[in-house]
Amino acid sequence: MLGSGSSGNSALVATDHCRILVDGGLSARQLLLRLSECGVAPGQLDGVLLTHEHTDHICGLEVLCRKFDVPIYCNRLTAEALRCNGLLDQHRNWRIFATGSEFSIVDITVQTFPVPHDAVDPIGFAFHAGSGGLGFITDLGYATKMIIERLRQVQTLVIETNHDEKLLQNDTHRPWPVKQRIQSRHGHLSNAAAATVIEELSFGTIRCVVLGHLSRDCNTPELALTAARAAIAKSGRVDLEVHVATQSKISPCFRISETKSEPFQPTFENTFFQTASTL
Ligand SMILES: [Zn+2]
Ligand SMILES: [Zn+2]
Repeated sequence: MLGSGSSGNSALVATDHCRILVDGGLSARQLLLRLSECGVAPGQLDGVLLTHEHTDHICGLEVLCRKFDVPIYCNRLTAEALRCNGLLDQHRNWRIFATGSEFSIVDITVQTFPVPHDAVDPIGFAFHAGSGGLGFITDLGYATKMIIERLRQVQTLVIETNHDEKLLQNDTHRPWPVKQRIQSRHGHLSNAAAATVIEELSFGTIRCVVLGHLSRDCNTPELALTAARAAIAKSGRVDLEVHVATQSKISPCFRISETKSEPFQPTFENTFFQTASTL
């Protein structure tokens, strides 16, 4: 995780052959700095995948993509929402996919699925490479049955624990409509809601959970961890690791599984994606 929280989100998903940025919601300067801490130069990125168009997921991309022509993978509505706002309208390297589709970026298979959130067409991801799987759900009001099914095969899960319900209710800075939005079915997962998802998945293949997108005012890493650990305790999975990603610095590297390090023969299907000219 390059950084995660209510004011900016970005993660690096990598194999020996492939480097994908998931969202670019830190300043371009911070993205470059934190990528370099991971030993990755921006020119080495195989693409940026977007979950949705909210500022805390895209704000560094305008500058990053102007300097480095990184392909942006997203669905059509997300691309249109960005371009309507005058963002990335000079960018020509788009790879547009349909929500629900599955495709490959070098040796990583990317499964996409819709999530309920107040954006134009927000999505979550399940990544598979070798024998490893990574689920990635941030920014969702609740976890649908389909989301849970998509995550059953993964060993590592990145999941939003946005707020503690009590802290949000007692917060004096946010007006009532904002609190309602956050708590709604198209808002954000509370610690308790995320814990329910973790508990359900803890009977399966999962080995490591990374909590992210914590609200600065309405959550603490301790509260998020306590909720997640209580859920895990119910299933008796003492081996299940839990970490919290922070806003201010990169997390440790989470090793999901081994992939083959020998040279990879890409079978990349360019025709799968619509490019900018068809947008
Ligand atoms: Zn967000
Ligand atoms: Zn959002």
